Amino acid sequence: MTLTTDEILALPKVLLHDHLDGGLRPATLIELAAEIGHELPSTDPDELARLFATNAASGDLVRYLEAFAHTIAVMQTADNLRRVAREAVLDLAADGVIYVELRYAPEQHLAGGLSLQEVVEAVQDGIEEGVAEALEAGYAIRAAAILDAMRHLDRSVEIAELALANRGRCCVGFDIAGPELGFPASDHREAFQLLREHHMPVTIHAGEADGAASVGEALGLGSARRIGHGVRIHEDIDGFGGEELVLGLIAQHALDLQIPLECCPTSNVQTGVAPSIAGHPMHELRNLGFAVTVNTDNRLVSGVSMTSEMAALVEAGWTKEDLFEATLAAAWGAFLPYDEKADLAELVIEGYGLEL
Ligand SMILES: [Zn+2]
Repeated sequence: MTLTTDEILALPKVLLHDHLDGGLRPATLIELAAEIGHELPSTDPDELARLFATNAASGDLVRYLEAFAHTIAVMQTADNLRRVAREAVLDLAADGVIYVELRYAPEQHLAGGLSLQEVVEAVQDGIEEGVAEALEAGYAIRAAAILDAMRHLDRSVEIAELALANRGRCCVGFDIAGPELGFPASDHREAFQLLREHHMPVTIHAGEADGAASVGEALGLGSARRIGHGVRIHEDIDGFGGEELVLGLIAQHALDLQIPLECCPTSNVQTGVAPSIAGHPMHELRNLGFAVTVNTDNRLVSGVSMTSEMAALVEAGWTKEDLFEATLAAAWGAFLPYDEKADLAELVIEGYGLEL
């Protein structure tokens, strides 16, 4: 029995990897761009969304990244950051998401004169407004933020300190994002050391543009509790896809510790990490017992939602049980206190109506 889109929409979802600057509503982007005189490739919401999705699917990273120049341009004031965060929460709630960790890089939102702390507070205000409004509309969603430092820049210690200073209300974790190849996690050794000393949860984009060694560095040097994408961890498994497998130390570590891999099916195909959704290594990784989770990455830029990503996986052969397992892995991988993760898992179990 295959699931319909409506059935998938109704399932409770846990989203660990979603970029705030990759998920704006097209109409909001157009409205905010007009206010500041920023030129967009189209001022028709449908056409703009289509253009971004086409660029993302083109296999050309420059065209893919173009979209972020537009979204980040309009996210330079407290009002706009608050609005984008609020709408993200509302859209995700309507998509059946019951818990999300939204991530963004505060250092990319300073051009309008905001301080790092003001950026964090504006986003948090928007998140809280979104959660309250969603509840009024009948959707119970919890939302938190992860602060990103950019891999190719040198502000990671500052961003780590910002994450620590805003722990609790505004921030549950830290990540590094941006170009992976040529900008190793070891460039940010000091930030990771600081976070480790303060027991701050860390996830690291790795195993996307660079191979398994980058995942190894994220897990070892970065003490990451989760891996953003992590797809190329399969390069540390000899005979991957066949019968006789030999796991390297990195893959074994991730498997033994059930490190959640924040897979983003469509995005991973668009950036060339997976040949297609049907041919995505996440299926085999899941079969081997890795903690594979399903994520959107950039909803506007890739033209996806959690429901559409899950529908694509169902199309590729996933069952309701498979979605259930991935959602539970995400719930237990959330950067939340243990009892709150247990509550989340309980909601997932109830919503799916399945036994463990
Ligand atoms: Zn990402």
